[in-house]
Amino acid sequence: MKFEVTSLPTMMGTCHCSRCRKIGASTFVFVKRDAFTLLSGADSITTFKPEAPYKYSRCFCSRCGSALGEVTSTGESFPVAANCFDDELPLSNLFHEFVQEKPDWYEICDDAKQFPGHPHQ
Ligand SMILES: [Zn+2]
Repeated sequence: MKFEVTSLPTMMGTCHCSRCRKIGASTFVFVKRDAFTLLSGADSITTFKPEAPYKYSRCFCSRCGSALGEVTSTGESFPVAANCFDDELPLSNLFHEFVQEKPDWYEICDDAKQFPGHPHQ
């Protein structure tokens, strides 16, 4: 899958929730819908929809397995997996969320703020 963004993502965070745990934690950046264009590979995007009470779908590439974030979201801005940007991002991780769901063997090695659950709870 190929995409381009016409403005820089706004914020970087890392999620340790039980779903993101399956991909080894998830560092993402927020991208504005207006600034995001999918250039190719839409047919390779597979969406995982979690069962309630979880509501956030996650996309991944069905060919290479790369985590993509919520690239098919219709929201005004949405998280895109930081790992799928080829270029460097002029951002650093701002926070860790759902830290209480992370495994003990995953050690957080930056000084970013930590939230036991969602930052807005
Ligand atoms: Zn998560």
